[in-house]
Amino acid sequence: MKISKIIVSSAAVLAAVGILAGTLSACKKDEQPQSDSAYLEKVNAYSFWSNTADTAIPEYHTYHHVHDFLDECEIKNGKAYAPNGKIRKVLFIGFDGMRADALPYVLTDANNKDLPAYNSITNISAIQRLQQTGGVYLAYCGGETGTDTEQTTSTSASWTSHFTGVWGAQHGIKTNDDAKNMQYKTFMLEYAEKGLHTALAFDWDQYLDVNVKEEVKCVLENQLPMQFCDIDRAKSDKLKKTRAETLELYNFVTPKAPSDSAPYDTGMRDYILDRMAQGDDIICGIFHNIDSAGHSYGFGVSTQYKAAVLNCDLYAASVLNAVAEREKNQNEEWLMIFANDHGGLGTGHGAQTLEERTTWIATNIPLDEKYYSSGYDGFHCKG
Ligand SMILES: [Zn+2]
Repeated sequence: MKISKIIVSSAAVLAAVGILAGTLSACKKDEQPQSDSAYLEKVNAYSFWSNTADTAIPEYHTYHHVHDFLDECEIKNGKAYAPNGKIRKVLFIGFDGMRADALPYVLTDANNKDLPAYNSITNISAIQRLQQTGGVYLAYCGGETGTDTEQTTSTSASWTSHFTGVWGAQHGIKTNDDAKNMQYKTFMLEYAEKGLHTALAFDWDQYLDVNVKEEVKCVLENQLPMQFCDIDRAKSDKLKKTRAETLELYNFVTPKAPSDSAPYDTGMRDYILDRMAQGDDIICGIFHNIDSAGHSYGFGVSTQYKAAVLNCDLYAASVLNAVAEREKNQNEEWLMIFANDHGGLGTGHGAQTLEERTTWIATNIPLDEKYYSSGYDGFHCKG
């Protein structure tokens, strides 16, 4: 249970304030925002996108993409049956804090042949495997800058937008300290209420203890088939120093079988594989180490950051192998979505720079063009 993120998120806000005030120029480690639209233009020039910067997708359309896939199904006896008779399932993997300009580490940019993808030695890319049948899309977080929907480019607001289909102005989380209302539910809870088995895992206390605590309570009280898991938390007989309201809620989000040999993102990989083996229908897990490396060593450019990107992509590849096996042998078809929540700048995020706002979504089934924005300029769209 990492509490460090609470500290670094405060540091991120300070860093963002510092950047705005121009006070970080003495710190050579910190990258300054690229002027004007240079960052977005650089990212937009990659060959692998299915859309363009001016049609960048608000990240909350992940929710609608999931609904489009599952709402074609008849849900009976706890399974979602597609019109073709297959059982449909959903996998969502979060790459926390992985900037859009880190994608060329795992995807070949045909417009820049001098820069082969870093993973060309292993020749494995989970993100590329999704792209081959679906696509990789330019997206954005942070709401529409300067309007009522503006929200921090932070973890809680961003993942909750992916999960609920709206910005924080509606779901209630604009900063890491807010709690989601129950008017807007995560798609995991919505389908658990319809009888599907779902799971949401993160190694960050705050998300489960504060941001979505009303959903945790709802699942506990109504015994719904949804699992929450803080994968590196152990059961306790006394309330430990998190912001969990009760010992019961604290223990409710601990894993049944903690993986003591596999911490953090390898533990997340193993948790996802375990839930898959248990037969879950919707599994959402978030890899955290890219964001952690960004906060410690710098977003986008540090060696540690690049290494975390490559590692997470490989962990995701192990999960894709398990999905392929199930599709071959178990009459299942899976919607898979990988995405980040926000970018980063220097060693922080939270503010409205292009480096922080610009995000991406990869999926094995193309996103409907009705989810494209129009006239997006990096901060707002026209429609
Ligand atoms: Zn994050």
